[in-house]
Amino acid sequence: MKVYNTLTKQKEELKLERTVRMYVCGITAYDYSHIGHARCAVVFDTLRRYLEYKGHSVRYVQNFTDVDDKIVKRAVQEGKSFKEISDYFISAYLEDIKKLNVKESINPRVTENIDEIISAVSKLVEKGYAYVVEGENGSDIYFHVPALESYGKLSGMSLEELNRHRIEPDPRKKDVKDFALWKAAKEEDVRAKAVFDSPWGKGRPGWHIECSVMASKYLGIPFDIHGGGKDLIFPHHENERAQSLALTGVEPVRYWIHNDFVRIRGEKMSKSLGNIVRIRDVLSKYEGEVLRYFLLSAHYRTALDFSEEAMEKCKRAYEYLKNTLEAIDMEIAAIKSGIYSAGESNEIAEEARKLERDFLAAMDDDLNTPVAFAALHTFANSANRILKESNSSLPSLEFAFETMKGLCSILGLFDSYRRVPVLSKELVELVKEREIYRKERNFEKADRIRDRLREKGYRLIDTPKGTRWRLV
Ligand SMILES: [Zn+2]
Repeated sequence: MKVYNTLTKQKEELKLERTVRMYVCGITAYDYSHIGHARCAVVFDTLRRYLEYKGHSVRYVQNFTDVDDKIVKRAVQEGKSFKEISDYFISAYLEDIKKLNVKESINPRVTENIDEIISAVSKLVEKGYAYVVEGENGSDIYFHVPALESYGKLSGMSLEELNRHRIEPDPRKKDVKDFALWKAAKEEDVRAKAVFDSPWGKGRPGWHIECSVMASKYLGIPFDIHGGGKDLIFPHHENERAQSLALTGVEPVRYWIHNDFVRIRGEKMSKSLGNIVRIRDVLSKYEGEVLRYFLLSAHYRTALDFSEEAMEKCKRAYEYLKNTLEAIDMEIAAIKSGIYSAGESNEIAEEARKLERDFLAAMDDDLNTPVAFAALHTFANSANRILKESNSSLPSLEFAFETMKGLCSILGLFDSYRRVPVLSKELVELVKEREIYRKERNFEKADRIRDRLREKGYRLIDTPKGTRWRLV
């Protein structure tokens, strides 16, 4: 498999051991999460699922930033503690992404790792990569960027660009690019109860150090894959890399992978534009799997435009795939129930083999999910034609079903699909009886049988090849 590595700025062969260690930056829990957060969660969950499909076991860590300027600000506004705010929005996020079939992962929080953060900051000071600026209510500690020669490598920015990026001059910093590792407690921090004891007095960690510390603690440095939205490349990931490199002396991450934004009418979502679309707003109108389909409908490194029309289109495409999977399943259940005899055709299995080949080739090419979806739709078109035109053998139908379902599971779709059951002898007799009534045009009796099956949880469907059924 090839992936685009932000560090080397090229597509590279992903070389991994059996166990893969993966870290994805999580949310800062100060508000409900939007569909940009959902895209990140779904993209990296899909990468994880694909690696698992290939036989890897994935140790997946996604942190929560549970103390931060924005959380403190909201806590003060609402007269709450920082923890009340972050606990609430972390739960809301977990609820949201569960509906998107994002698998569970290890979710460390900043405030559970304060001791480790303090020891990392101390080590950076000892090693000469960081310095202490004393203040009245405790000290600030800054990472000194010029101390690390390869700073800027991840974002690919020149020193000049980096200097321009930091527009707020701060007389306490030795260099304009230096960033905070530890911040002395301010009044609002005290009000929000966001203060922690440290050798430098009361304070709290800067943003970036948490990810160096948690990745190192839960995965070890170096580790395999670091994911996140592309807005994190600079400064967050540039700084995280700098800290980890300074602490360990090794390049901390083998593959840095970043996803692009979700846009609304061509614009990035932002509070200032007032165009934030929350995950739960979308989930009030659409199933989680439809939103997941949408989030994977564009390549992860291209911008994805959200609109009602795009969602409707994805909904139709999603339902088409689901109905196709079910149509194959209904054929299998009809054969196994003895309602209909299997034929000799293996064409559907051949189409499934083509699907598997094309789907995996797409995923191997930098997780190209839109091409993988196209392969699924090509298969679905063929499968529906074959179901109509020919009588397939049972093994070929089962192979087609398992292949399609297995590949959709990589995309996080149809995991909760319930198989069409084989009918009991008694019900099979009823279905056959009904077919006779229908031929005799005795619709009253036919409908009575249909209603009886419905009470038992089966909805009968009449096809040119005979009766089929699905779960109500
Ligand atoms: Zn992070």
